[in-house]
Amino acid sequence: MASYEYETHEYDVVVVGAGGAGLRATLGMAEQGLRTACVTKVFPTRSHTVAAQGGIAASLSNMGPDHWQWHMYDTVKGSDWLGDTDAMEYLAREAPKAVYELEHYGVPFSRTEEGKIYQRPFGGHTTEFGEGPAVQRTCAAADRTGHAILHTLYGQSLKNNAEFYIEYFAIDLIMSEDGACTGVVCWKLDDGTMYVFNAKMVVLATGGYGRAYFSATSAHTCTGDGGGMVARAGLALQDMEFVQFHPTGIYGSGCLITEGARGEGGYLTNSEGERFMERYAPQYKDLAPRDYVSRSMTMEIREGRGVGAEGDHIHLNLSHLPAEALAERLPGISESAKIFAGVDVTKEPIPVLPTVHYNMGGIPTNYWGEVINPTDSDPHAIVPGLMAVGEAGCASVHGANRLGSNSLIDLVVFGRAAAIRAGKVVDAEAPNPSLNKASIDAAFDRFDALRHADGTIPTAELRLEMQKTMQSDAAVFRTSKTLAEGVEKMTAIAGKMDDLKVTDRSLVWNSDLMETLELTNLMPNAMATILGAEARKESRGAHAHEDFTERDDEKWRVHTVAHVDGAGVKLSYRPVITDPLTTEQEGGIELKRIAPKARTF
Ligand SMILES: Cc1cc2nc3c(=O)[nH]c(=O)nc-3n(C[C@H](O)[C@H](O)[C@H](O)COP(=O)(O)OP(=O)(O)OC[C@H]3O[C@@H](n4cnc5c(N)ncnc54)[C@H](O)[C@@H]3O)c2cc1C
Repeated sequence: MASYEYETHEYDVVVVGAGGAGLRATLGMAEQGLRTACVTKVFPTRSHTVAAQGGIAASLSNMGPDHWQWHMYDTVKGSDWLGDTDAMEYLAREAPKAVYELEHYGVPFSRTEEGKIYQRPFGGHTTEFGEGPAVQRTCAAADRTGHAILHTLYGQSLKNNAEFYIEYFAIDLIMSEDGACTGVVCWKLDDGTMYVFNAKMVVLATGGYGRAYFSATSAHTCTGDGGGMVARAGLALQDMEFVQFHPTGIYGSGCLITEGARGEGGYLTNSEGERFMERYAPQYKDLAPRDYVSRSMTMEIREGRGVGAEGDHIHLNLSHLPAEALAERLPGISESAKIFAGVDVTKEPIPVLPTVHYNMGGIPTNYWGEVINPTDSDPHAIVPGLMAVGEAGCASVHGANRLGSNSLIDLVVFGRAAAIRAGKVVDAEAPNPSLNKASIDAAFDRFDALRHADGTIPTAELRLEMQKTMQSDAAVFRTSKTLAEGVEKMTAIAGKMDDLKVTDRSLVWNSDLMETLELTNLMPNAMATILGAEARKESRGAHAHEDFTERDDEKWRVHTVAHVDGAGVKLSYRPVITDPLTTEQEGGIELKRIAPKARTF
């Protein structure tokens, strides 16, 4: 057995992750006087949320009529009827409150002439329950909204005496014998010391796992560590087959061009110069949801109308927009286009391609952020002491496809909800739960085995094999054949995890070991994704299956539940929550309005 000395720290709440979700949860916990620690592997303001450009959705009605019920309807339809209706109602209802709170905390939103928060159109956001024109619902701080939110929340968390443990890597959850979470084991990256955080509530806010793929818009730190920890604790992952490809990653680098570019009037063209989205989505055109646009682009390329020497990408045109508007509303992407594509957006189109962007699936929770581990007798059973928020979680508000600007609002609404809930279930006066020594030992044993791993395959090599396989076999277009091949290849790749080679055995700034730990987290996420996709015999949202092109509500309006154990994945299914929180009489939405129907734009 490995022996590592460690320091133990006691808190009421430990939040793992300092992105938008982690910081909003941390702030909310600390504001209520709960003793709160936030543990993060990167400096808080370097979390991937900092890269969010386009904005945050809330029905403020600053630019024209809007209602939370319309926002809810769009989210339900956007999810292709796989989201949980109670959570989607909670999101849309609470969104304006959460945005005004951000404003009061100090987020420097862009303004209208009258000084109100500026809002831009975004894909899939409409009026009149999808019958009216597109709505301007996405609140923005130029094209640096995530940056503004993250810096503001970090400052506010410090002001409220939250304690930060920066560049600490969470290795594993500490679970009691009866299945409650009581803390987390961490490795301090800059000096190699070890920590046990003992808490009454652990909140996972570790972000997505975009880096399971070869080309992604997300940061290299987006390695699904929360999902990995949860899988190792024997808990479930949900709806992992739904991976969002953003229509406009810059061709080659994958760097994101925000949907705000189309919101501000940009449009896509093929090799014939045709604005092809008019054919696929006559009503909303370039502002149809992302799954729809990505699929249309892929279709154009497959049918030989791609641009460039290899005919393998598409053009995004902005040069018809006034130069002042580009400078004021889209300064960041003008710069990205110059650096990553060598393009002057005032003169030429940007070469773009659908690129992995967001994980709809994650750790299943209810709309308070409490983690669910579904059992046969109780599909909504709660795991005591554990919450998950942000992209790591699956509440599920995005179902099979997330609408643009609905993630940032998810971070703050559910970060806030987790804090509200913790205020009720965490007793600040009670003693901390006792720690299960066996669980701590298991974490150190795993860590030590990886540190001394002496197989034949370097971590970077196996990671690349995984990324390439996921990119080719779990992409925008999926067939029974590619998915079956993908499952076979990924099972073999996951099987090679026992043969990893780590060359650096030190404990201080050992990036080789850290990346190996991250690979042990990426792998279960990737496995759940491809096996879930192979099993789902229908097309829904981001899961477009060429051999089963229709959505099948009778059989498949269910959440996929995956328990991953090494190279083995056990799949089961749990019902989608179809009832809203409130009825029409209480100011809610008429159930009939949000019942499933064909999804056209
Ligand atoms: C380029 C880009 C642009 C986007 N633009 C928008 C937009 O305009 N609007 C919108 O709504 N959405 C947007 N999204 C999506 C949205 O930004 C993300 O879904 C969201 O920021 C995720 O936030 P998070 O708080 O869940 O995680 P992140 O911001 O990814 O933060 C994760 C945190 O977890 C910590 N962490 C992870 N693992 C560990 C570990 N093992 N130990 C310790 N700490 C750990 C990290 O240090 C980090 O602090 C965009 C995404 C990208 C990639």
